[in-house]
Amino acid sequence: MTPMLQQYFDLKKQCDDKTILFFRMGDFYEIFGNDALQVAPLLNIMITHRNKEEKIPFCGVPHHSYRPYCRKLVDHGFKVAVAEQIASNNNRGILRRQIVRIITPGLRDDLDSLDTDRPNYLASIYEEPRSKSCSLILADISTGELRLGQFINCQQAMSFIDNNNPQEILARLFQHDMLQKRYRDKITFSKMSETVITDTNERQRVLAGFLTSTILARFAEHEQINLAAFACYLQKNSQPLDNFLTVKPLFSEQEMSLGTNVVGDLEIFATLQTGSSKESLYATINNTLTPMGARLLRHSLLHPLTETNRLTKRQQRVAEFVTFGYSYLEELRLLLKGFPDLERLSNRLLSKRLTPEQLATIAESLVRTSRFVKHLSLTEHCRQQLEELQTLLQRALLERPGKLGLGIEVFRPEYNSTLGQHIELATHGEEKIVEYEQQLRKQTAIISLKIKRHKSFGLLIEVSRGSANKVPDYFTRRQTMVASERFVTEQLMELDALLANAVGKAIDCEAELYTTLVNQLVGYHRSLLQLSEAVANLDFIQNSAFTALRNDYCQPQLGEQIDLKGCRHPVIESLLGRHAFVANDIGIDCQAKTMVITGPNMAGKSTIMRQVAIAAIMHQSGFFVPATQATLPIFDNIFTRIGASDNITAGQSTFMVEMTETSTILREASPTSLVIVDEIGRGTSTADGLALARAILENLALIRCYCIFSTHFHELLPATSEIDGIKNMQTEVQQDGYFSHRLLPGSCSRSFGIEVAERAGLPAKVIDNAKSFLNRGFAL
Ligand code: ADP
Repeated sequence: MTPMLQQYFDLKKQCDDKTILFFRMGDFYEIFGNDALQVAPLLNIMITHRNKEEKIPFCGVPHHSYRPYCRKLVDHGFKVAVAEQIASNNNRGILRRQIVRIITPGLRDDLDSLDTDRPNYLASIYEEPRSKSCSLILADISTGELRLGQFINCQQAMSFIDNNNPQEILARLFQHDMLQKRYRDKITFSKMSETVITDTNERQRVLAGFLTSTILARFAEHEQINLAAFACYLQKNSQPLDNFLTVKPLFSEQEMSLGTNVVGDLEIFATLQTGSSKESLYATINNTLTPMGARLLRHSLLHPLTETNRLTKRQQRVAEFVTFGYSYLEELRLLLKGFPDLERLSNRLLSKRLTPEQLATIAESLVRTSRFVKHLSLTEHCRQQLEELQTLLQRALLERPGKLGLGIEVFRPEYNSTLGQHIELATHGEEKIVEYEQQLRKQTAIISLKIKRHKSFGLLIEVSRGSANKVPDYFTRRQTMVASERFVTEQLMELDALLANAVGKAIDCEAELYTTLVNQLVGYHRSLLQLSEAVANLDFIQNSAFTALRNDYCQPQLGEQIDLKGCRHPVIESLLGRHAFVANDIGIDCQAKTMVITGPNMAGKSTIMRQVAIAAIMHQSGFFVPATQATLPIFDNIFTRIGASDNITAGQSTFMVEMTETSTILREASPTSLVIVDEIGRGTSTADGLALARAILENLALIRCYCIFSTHFHELLPATSEIDGIKNMQTEVQQDGYFSHRLLPGSCSRSFGIEVAERAGLPAKVIDNAKSFLNRGFAL
């Protein structure tokens, strides 16, 4: 192996399995060995062989455009370690290289590579060795969001993680196997430092540089260990810590936290069958226009409000915006469209990593804000600060600043007189020479006078031999030529020196001014963040109002009963069209809180149940609901048990999942919870299923939660009259056997399974046989 390859593989040893080393060689980053074989097809680049005998494969990407390649690999769950050439060991040795940064899915610092409508979470989990309780951190380095919560065990923490889709999980090495089993290649794992766990001094040192002692005092020791491990990981990967200003709780008492299966069952972010996000509830009701608004919407759907005042205020604001009308909203939407990601930008400001272009984006957004500022709830102090900031940025920056480091593309020349002079000379040097030349011609009355640049003497004044006697005393002779004489003046020499240094000086001056400006701007961070939050709220509210107007949703009233008139499923309605969807009236009052829906498969039971749960979530997230009239309670929690959302990856069978979810419902539901149970007992034998279904139904009725329980076990019907508080409903089957998708009182005593099978195209012979078996009372 050559010394260079030796160096590559030595550096590679510092990386974990998931890390691809970008090894700088001249104008390229090279990747060798198995890594090259693995990534070349992903990056669509050629593989070659360096070492002829050993045939070591390699591939490379140009250093000036490595970011898109890096981004692609990180998108695929890899980490990228970038090794730069540092200095030569001595003149004979090869260049020394060192890993200068590591980019991982959870530590992306490149704004372009982040999804705008969701947080980019790094999760960190730490299990307390004795109690096995688990502390979980969710942090988004792009926004400075840092949340910490406590779970009774790691399994619970991971269920919570699932909804939040972290890009990377930091955990102790011995937990990686368990994580690998659960997530396979869907999430990248990183190793937590053991030192901060075992060495108290080291932990205190890390924490002291991270959070204030007042903040830290709120946390138990194992939570502090988790915080220290998180901080340590960031430091190790050269990420700043100063943008994390506080630690928020993972849960709020004013919000519910929907379970992962609820989010899945109701297809809030993706469909169960295909995983497509296009046909999700989120996609259907997302008409936000800013990244912050989209993220707030996502958060609100995952955490519907349970606090009456906050919810009422939010609903009132939506109602107010609905009264503004469609065309007013359209105008407002034009102003919001393309509004930049102020939350992420102001976060970068804290770590002083904003480019001039990004500063100009902030400036432009401040100007734009003035056109809808009346809708933003900002403190007076914040308004003043934003005005000041706008003036400062407009005074300092060119309208469309370019790159730093050229001296002339960032600042307005009038912002700083020294820089202005340098820019003037750097950009108008030639004009200055012509100006001086004309001035000299006038002064000396020598028409032939010219200023020329000489390779070694610099700028010279050339005068024809015949006019040489007319030159004034302050001209100093430099060269005598055949037909002319060449001179300099003090002023020309100064001009020459100025011009020669102008660019360099402009670059230095620009760098200094930029550092000063960014330091000054840090002081405006809080106000920018307040503005970002206000814009997010406005975008959220306009979205609710706009969606309500466009889709004809109604404002729900608060009440003790569920009373939905003309209720629709928003996603199916948007797919089928407003008139193809059959709207239903669905009611649950406080006397009979358990609704049992019977009806054949495909008759619309799940859809009805889902639409109630979706209406509840939309209401409590701050939306109007897809109905013509609606009264809803504020539910403290929403539980669902629908379909076969099999969790095979976690090693559980369909039936096990069914029972685990039901068990959570029976233990956690309260009289103010909404519970949706769809065809329980499907995953086992008919007899067991029936028995379980009845027992579960009785228990749910006893809890007195608002419950919709669907079943195709018509054998369960007699039981419903023996249980208190049950209301029987059915999905209509028309005389010709067709399903109208209408919900009617009463119950359905046939399952119509054979009719559905016939419609599904089972061969006629099979259908006929089935019918005769049924008629003969064939027992399975
Ligand atoms: P079930 O739970 O009774 O098996 P589903 O609720 O899954 O039935 O509905 C079966 C199909 O009927 C779905 O594909 C859905 O698109 C359609 N459907 C259900 N309800 C309606 C409705 N109210 N209007 C129009 N189509 C509906």
